[in-house]
Amino acid sequence: MKCVFRVAAVACAAALTTLPSLAQEKVLNLYSARHYSTDEALYSNFTKATGIRINRIEAGDEALLERLANEGANSPADVVLLVDAARLAKAQQAGLFQPVQSQALTSRIPANLRAPDGSWYAFSTRARVVVYNKGTVKAEDVDTYEELAEAKNKGKVCTRSGSHPYQLSLAASLIEHHGEAKTEEWARGVVANMARPPRGGDTDQIKGVATGECGVALSNSYYVARLMRSDKAEDKDTMQKVGVIWPNQGNRGTHVNISGGAVAKSSKNRDAAVKFLEYLATDEAQGYFANGNNEWPVVKATSFKNPALEQLGDFKADPLPVAALLKNAAAAQKVMDRAGYK
Ligand code: FE
Repeated sequence: MKCVFRVAAVACAAALTTLPSLAQEKVLNLYSARHYSTDEALYSNFTKATGIRINRIEAGDEALLERLANEGANSPADVVLLVDAARLAKAQQAGLFQPVQSQALTSRIPANLRAPDGSWYAFSTRARVVVYNKGTVKAEDVDTYEELAEAKNKGKVCTRSGSHPYQLSLAASLIEHHGEAKTEEWARGVVANMARPPRGGDTDQIKGVATGECGVALSNSYYVARLMRSDKAEDKDTMQKVGVIWPNQGNRGTHVNISGGAVAKSSKNRDAAVKFLEYLATDEAQGYFANGNNEWPVVKATSFKNPALEQLGDFKADPLPVAALLKNAAAAQKVMDRAGYK
Protein backbone atom coordinates (compact mmCIF):
# COMPACT_ATOMS: atom_id res chain seq x y z
CA MET A 1 0.00 0.00 0.00
CA LYS A 2 1.34 3.39 -0.99
CA CYS A 3 0.39 6.58 0.88
CA VAL A 4 0.58 9.16 -1.86
CA PHE A 5 -2.02 11.76 -0.98
CA ARG A 6 -1.49 14.05 1.96
CA VAL A 7 -5.15 14.17 2.83
CA ALA A 8 -5.20 10.44 3.21
CA ALA A 9 -2.11 10.29 5.40
CA VAL A 10 -3.94 9.72 8.65
CA ALA A 11 -6.11 6.95 7.26
CA CYS A 12 -3.04 5.46 5.61
CA ALA A 13 -1.09 5.35 8.86
CA ALA A 14 -3.96 3.60 10.55
CA ALA A 15 -4.16 1.07 7.74
CA LEU A 16 -0.44 0.36 7.89
CA THR A 17 -0.52 -0.54 11.55
CA THR A 18 -3.11 -3.22 10.93
CA LEU A 19 -1.66 -4.54 7.69
CA PRO A 20 1.10 -6.88 8.84
CA SER A 21 -1.17 -9.18 10.81
CA LEU A 22 -3.50 -9.47 7.84
CA ALA A 23 -1.09 -9.73 4.94
CA GLN A 24 1.94 -11.32 6.51
CA GLU A 25 0.76 -14.08 8.78
CA LYS A 26 3.95 -16.02 9.26
CA VAL A 27 3.67 -19.64 8.26
CA LEU A 28 6.31 -22.31 8.51
CA ASN A 29 5.95 -25.32 6.23
CA LEU A 30 7.00 -28.38 8.13
CA TYR A 31 7.57 -31.68 6.33
CA SER A 32 7.51 -34.28 9.08
CA ALA A 33 8.04 -38.02 9.11
CA ARG A 34 7.52 -38.14 12.86
CA HIS A 35 4.37 -40.21 13.20
CA TYR A 36 3.45 -39.42 16.76
CA SER A 37 0.08 -37.76 17.35
CA THR A 38 1.37 -36.40 20.65
CA ASP A 39 3.75 -34.11 18.72
CA GLU A 40 0.83 -31.70 18.31
CA ALA A 41 1.79 -29.98 21.58
CA LEU A 42 5.30 -29.33 20.25
CA TYR A 43 3.95 -27.38 17.31
CA SER A 44 1.26 -25.44 19.12
CA ASN A 45 3.70 -24.31 21.81
CA PHE A 46 6.00 -22.91 19.12
CA THR A 47 3.13 -20.99 17.57
CA LYS A 48 2.12 -19.63 20.98
CA ALA A 49 5.68 -18.45 21.64
CA THR A 50 6.45 -16.95 18.21
CA GLY A 51 3.17 -16.27 16.44
CA ILE A 52 4.43 -18.39 13.54
CA ARG A 53 1.80 -20.84 12.38
CA ILE A 54 2.93 -24.31 11.40
CA ASN A 55 1.58 -25.90 8.29
CA ARG A 56 2.44 -29.56 8.71
CA ILE A 57 2.77 -32.03 5.88
CA GLU A 58 3.11 -35.52 7.32
CA ALA A 59 4.17 -38.60 5.41
CA GLY A 60 6.48 -41.57 5.71
CA ASP A 61 10.20 -40.84 5.39
CA GLU A 62 10.47 -42.26 1.93
CA ALA A 63 7.43 -40.45 0.52
CA LEU A 64 8.54 -37.21 2.10
CA LEU A 65 12.02 -37.36 0.61
CA GLU A 66 10.64 -38.26 -2.78
CA ARG A 67 8.29 -35.30 -2.63
CA LEU A 68 11.10 -32.94 -1.62
CA ALA A 69 13.29 -34.18 -4.45
CA ASN A 70 10.47 -33.83 -7.00
CA GLU A 71 9.56 -30.33 -5.86
CA GLY A 72 13.19 -29.24 -6.06
CA ALA A 73 13.84 -25.49 -5.77
CA ASN A 74 10.09 -24.84 -5.87
CA SER A 75 9.40 -26.85 -2.75
CA PRO A 76 7.49 -24.88 -0.11
CA ALA A 77 9.24 -26.89 2.63
CA ASP A 78 11.03 -24.90 5.33
CA VAL A 79 11.85 -27.55 7.91
CA VAL A 80 12.21 -31.29 7.49
CA LEU A 81 11.87 -33.66 10.47
CA LEU A 82 12.93 -37.25 9.97
CA VAL A 83 13.23 -40.33 12.11
CA ASP A 84 16.40 -42.37 11.96
CA ALA A 85 19.96 -41.52 11.01
CA ALA A 86 19.71 -43.56 7.79
CA ARG A 87 17.02 -41.22 6.46
CA LEU A 88 18.83 -38.05 7.49
CA ALA A 89 21.90 -39.34 5.67
CA LYS A 90 19.93 -40.07 2.54
CA ALA A 91 18.36 -36.62 2.49
CA GLN A 92 21.64 -34.88 3.16
CA GLN A 93 23.37 -36.83 0.39
CA ALA A 94 20.53 -35.92 -1.98
CA GLY A 95 21.22 -32.23 -1.27
CA LEU A 96 17.83 -31.58 0.32
CA PHE A 97 19.15 -29.63 3.34
CA GLN A 98 20.92 -26.33 3.83
CA PRO A 99 23.50 -25.98 6.61
CA VAL A 100 22.64 -23.89 9.66
CA GLN A 101 25.11 -22.25 12.01
CA SER A 102 23.48 -21.55 15.33
CA GLN A 103 25.08 -21.03 18.70
CA ALA A 104 21.79 -21.98 20.36
CA LEU A 105 21.95 -25.39 18.63
CA THR A 106 25.67 -26.15 18.88
CA SER A 107 25.86 -25.14 22.54
CA ARG A 108 23.04 -27.51 23.51
CA ILE A 109 23.28 -30.49 21.17
CA PRO A 110 26.34 -32.75 21.62
CA ALA A 111 28.69 -32.79 18.64
CA ASN A 112 28.12 -36.49 17.89
CA LEU A 113 24.39 -35.80 17.49
CA ARG A 114 24.58 -33.23 14.71
CA ALA A 115 26.14 -32.98 11.26
CA PRO A 116 29.62 -31.40 11.40
CA ASP A 117 28.56 -28.79 8.81
CA GLY A 118 25.22 -28.04 10.52
CA SER A 119 23.18 -29.80 7.79
CA TRP A 120 21.00 -31.53 10.40
CA TYR A 121 20.57 -31.77 14.16
CA ALA A 122 19.26 -34.61 16.32
CA PHE A 123 16.61 -33.63 18.87
CA SER A 124 15.84 -36.96 20.51
CA THR A 125 17.26 -40.46 20.82
CA ARG A 126 15.71 -43.92 20.98
CA ALA A 127 17.18 -47.37 21.62
CA ARG A 128 16.59 -50.60 19.67
CA VAL A 129 15.65 -53.11 22.37
CA VAL A 130 14.97 -56.83 22.48
CA VAL A 131 11.49 -57.95 23.56
CA TYR A 132 11.02 -61.63 24.42
CA ASN A 133 8.25 -63.95 25.59
CA LYS A 134 8.90 -64.71 29.25
CA GLY A 135 7.16 -68.09 28.99
CA THR A 136 9.04 -69.51 26.00
CA VAL A 137 12.42 -67.78 25.80
CA LYS A 138 15.26 -67.35 28.27
CA ALA A 139 16.62 -63.81 28.57
CA GLU A 140 20.21 -65.00 28.41
CA ASP A 141 19.57 -66.53 24.96
CA VAL A 142 18.56 -63.21 23.42
CA ASP A 143 20.52 -60.51 25.20
CA THR A 144 22.68 -59.59 22.21
CA TYR A 145 21.73 -58.69 18.63
CA GLU A 146 24.18 -61.34 17.47
CA GLU A 147 22.31 -64.18 19.24
CA LEU A 148 19.17 -63.50 17.19
CA ALA A 149 21.08 -65.09 14.30
CA GLU A 150 22.16 -68.18 16.25
CA ALA A 151 20.58 -71.61 15.67
CA LYS A 152 19.21 -71.75 19.23
CA ASN A 153 16.65 -69.11 18.23
CA LYS A 154 15.35 -70.94 15.15
CA GLY A 155 11.68 -70.20 14.43
CA LYS A 156 11.47 -67.54 17.12
CA VAL A 157 12.51 -64.19 15.65
CA CYS A 158 10.14 -61.46 14.44
CA THR A 159 11.10 -58.05 13.08
CA ARG A 160 9.73 -55.40 10.79
CA SER A 161 11.03 -55.17 7.23
CA GLY A 162 14.76 -55.45 6.61
CA SER A 163 14.64 -52.33 4.46
CA HIS A 164 13.01 -50.21 7.14
CA PRO A 165 15.43 -47.54 8.41
CA TYR A 166 15.32 -48.92 11.97
CA GLN A 167 16.65 -52.27 10.76
CA LEU A 168 19.06 -50.67 8.30
CA SER A 169 20.65 -48.51 10.98
CA LEU A 170 21.06 -51.51 13.25
CA ALA A 171 22.76 -53.33 10.36
CA ALA A 172 24.88 -50.23 9.74
CA SER A 173 26.07 -50.39 13.34
CA LEU A 174 26.89 -54.09 12.96
CA ILE A 175 28.89 -53.30 9.80
CA GLU A 176 30.92 -50.78 11.79
CA HIS A 177 31.60 -53.31 14.56
CA HIS A 178 31.98 -56.56 12.60
CA GLY A 179 32.44 -55.66 8.93
CA GLU A 180 30.17 -56.30 5.96
CA ALA A 181 30.76 -60.04 5.53
CA LYS A 182 29.97 -60.88 9.17
CA THR A 183 26.91 -58.62 9.09
CA GLU A 184 25.61 -60.40 6.00
CA GLU A 185 26.10 -63.70 7.79
CA TRP A 186 24.16 -62.25 10.73
CA ALA A 187 21.32 -61.08 8.49
CA ARG A 188 21.12 -64.55 6.88
CA GLY A 189 20.99 -66.10 10.32
CA VAL A 190 18.15 -63.83 11.43
CA VAL A 191 16.20 -64.55 8.23
CA ALA A 192 16.67 -68.30 8.82
CA ASN A 193 15.36 -67.90 12.39
CA MET A 194 12.19 -66.01 11.53
CA ALA A 195 8.89 -67.11 13.03
CA ARG A 196 7.06 -65.34 10.18
CA PRO A 197 8.02 -63.11 7.25
CA PRO A 198 8.71 -59.50 8.31
CA ARG A 199 5.55 -57.42 8.44
CA GLY A 200 4.02 -54.57 10.44
CA GLY A 201 5.62 -52.05 12.74
CA ASP A 202 7.46 -52.50 16.02
CA THR A 203 4.26 -52.56 18.09
CA ASP A 204 3.04 -55.50 15.97
CA GLN A 205 6.24 -57.37 16.82
CA ILE A 206 5.74 -56.78 20.56
CA LYS A 207 2.16 -58.05 20.29
CA GLY A 208 3.37 -61.05 18.30
CA VAL A 209 5.74 -61.87 21.15
CA ALA A 210 2.94 -61.58 23.70
CA THR A 211 0.66 -63.97 21.79
CA GLY A 212 3.52 -66.44 21.44
CA GLU A 213 3.64 -66.34 17.64
CA CYS A 214 7.12 -64.86 18.10
CA GLY A 215 9.61 -65.72 20.80
CA VAL A 216 11.72 -62.62 20.41
CA ALA A 217 11.55 -59.34 18.52
CA LEU A 218 13.22 -55.98 18.10
CA SER A 219 11.52 -52.70 18.88
CA ASN A 220 12.36 -49.07 19.34
CA SER A 221 12.17 -48.19 23.03
CA TYR A 222 9.38 -45.62 22.71
CA TYR A 223 6.93 -48.23 21.40
CA VAL A 224 7.64 -50.33 24.49
CA ALA A 225 7.25 -47.31 26.77
CA ARG A 226 3.99 -46.36 25.06
CA LEU A 227 2.50 -49.79 25.80
CA MET A 228 3.84 -49.63 29.36
CA ARG A 229 1.98 -46.34 29.89
CA SER A 230 -1.23 -47.46 28.21
CA ASP A 231 -4.42 -47.79 30.25
CA LYS A 232 -5.91 -50.38 27.89
CA ALA A 233 -6.35 -53.82 29.41
CA GLU A 234 -4.98 -55.57 26.30
CA ASP A 235 -1.79 -53.47 26.39
CA LYS A 236 -1.30 -54.19 30.08
CA ASP A 237 -1.78 -57.88 29.30
CA THR A 238 0.77 -57.65 26.45
CA MET A 239 3.39 -56.04 28.68
CA GLN A 240 2.85 -58.67 31.38
CA LYS A 241 3.84 -61.44 29.00
CA VAL A 242 6.99 -59.87 27.58
CA GLY A 243 10.40 -59.08 28.97
CA VAL A 244 12.48 -56.16 27.74
CA ILE A 245 16.26 -56.33 27.37
CA TRP A 246 18.90 -53.72 26.67
CA PRO A 247 21.00 -55.75 24.22
CA ASN A 248 24.79 -56.03 24.35
CA GLN A 249 25.26 -54.68 27.87
CA GLY A 250 28.20 -57.08 28.30
CA ASN A 251 30.13 -55.49 25.45
CA ARG A 252 29.62 -52.39 23.30
CA GLY A 253 26.12 -51.41 24.48
CA THR A 254 22.66 -51.03 22.96
CA HIS A 255 22.16 -49.54 19.49
CA VAL A 256 20.80 -46.01 19.76
CA ASN A 257 19.27 -43.95 16.99
CA ILE A 258 17.98 -40.43 16.57
CA SER A 259 15.17 -38.30 15.29
CA GLY A 260 16.36 -35.05 13.82
CA GLY A 261 15.63 -32.05 11.71
CA ALA A 262 17.06 -29.70 9.14
CA VAL A 263 16.27 -26.56 7.20
CA ALA A 264 15.09 -27.50 3.73
CA LYS A 265 17.36 -26.48 0.87
CA SER A 266 14.47 -24.64 -0.78
CA SER A 267 13.31 -22.69 2.29
CA LYS A 268 12.36 -19.11 1.61
CA ASN A 269 11.73 -18.68 5.30
CA ARG A 270 15.13 -19.45 6.71
CA ASP A 271 14.92 -17.27 9.82
CA ALA A 272 11.68 -18.85 10.98
CA ALA A 273 13.01 -22.31 10.09
CA VAL A 274 16.13 -21.81 12.22
CA LYS A 275 13.96 -20.42 15.01
CA PHE A 276 11.93 -23.64 14.93
CA LEU A 277 15.01 -25.85 15.13
CA GLU A 278 16.27 -23.74 18.04
CA TYR A 279 12.91 -24.12 19.72
CA LEU A 280 13.23 -27.93 19.48
CA ALA A 281 16.42 -27.68 21.56
CA THR A 282 14.80 -25.63 24.35
CA ASP A 283 14.13 -27.17 27.77
CA GLU A 284 10.40 -27.08 27.07
CA ALA A 285 10.56 -28.94 23.76
CA GLN A 286 13.23 -31.35 24.98
CA GLY A 287 11.11 -32.26 28.00
CA TYR A 288 8.25 -32.84 25.64
CA PHE A 289 10.16 -35.45 23.59
CA ALA A 290 10.55 -37.43 26.83
CA ASN A 291 7.12 -36.92 28.35
CA GLY A 292 5.09 -36.93 25.14
CA ASN A 293 6.80 -39.54 22.97
CA ASN A 294 8.95 -41.46 25.44
CA GLU A 295 12.23 -40.56 23.74
CA TRP A 296 15.38 -39.31 25.43
CA PRO A 297 16.24 -35.64 25.06
CA VAL A 298 19.55 -34.82 23.37
CA VAL A 299 20.12 -31.98 25.84
CA LYS A 300 21.36 -34.01 28.76
CA ALA A 301 20.40 -31.55 31.50
CA THR A 302 16.70 -31.73 30.55
CA SER A 303 14.56 -32.73 33.49
CA PHE A 304 11.52 -34.87 32.79
CA LYS A 305 9.17 -37.21 34.54
CA ASN A 306 8.24 -40.31 32.58
CA PRO A 307 7.32 -43.39 34.64
CA ALA A 308 7.97 -45.82 31.76
CA LEU A 309 11.45 -44.47 31.01
CA GLU A 310 12.17 -44.54 34.74
CA GLN A 311 11.03 -48.15 34.97
CA LEU A 312 13.12 -49.13 31.96
CA GLY A 313 16.08 -47.67 33.81
CA ASP A 314 19.61 -46.83 32.78
CA PHE A 315 21.57 -48.70 30.18
CA LYS A 316 24.88 -48.65 28.40
CA ALA A 317 24.47 -47.17 24.92
CA ASP A 318 26.68 -48.05 21.99
CA PRO A 319 28.90 -44.95 21.75
CA LEU A 320 29.15 -45.26 17.95
CA PRO A 321 28.83 -41.78 16.42
CA VAL A 322 25.78 -41.24 14.25
CA ALA A 323 28.20 -40.41 11.43
CA ALA A 324 29.24 -44.10 11.32
CA LEU A 325 25.62 -45.14 10.80
CA LEU A 326 25.30 -42.62 7.99
CA LYS A 327 28.48 -43.83 6.33
CA ASN A 328 27.26 -47.44 6.34
CA ALA A 329 23.62 -46.81 5.42
CA ALA A 330 23.92 -47.74 1.75
CA ALA A 331 26.07 -50.81 2.47
CA ALA A 332 23.50 -51.91 5.06
CA GLN A 333 20.73 -51.98 2.46
CA LYS A 334 22.90 -54.08 0.12
CA VAL A 335 23.76 -56.50 2.90
CA MET A 336 20.09 -56.94 3.81
CA ASP A 337 19.14 -57.45 0.15
CA ARG A 338 21.86 -60.05 -0.39
CA ALA A 339 20.74 -61.89 2.76
CA GLY A 340 17.14 -61.99 1.51
CA TYR A 341 15.97 -59.92 4.49
CA LYS A 342 12.68 -58.72 2.99
FE1 FE B 1 8.74 -45.13 14.81
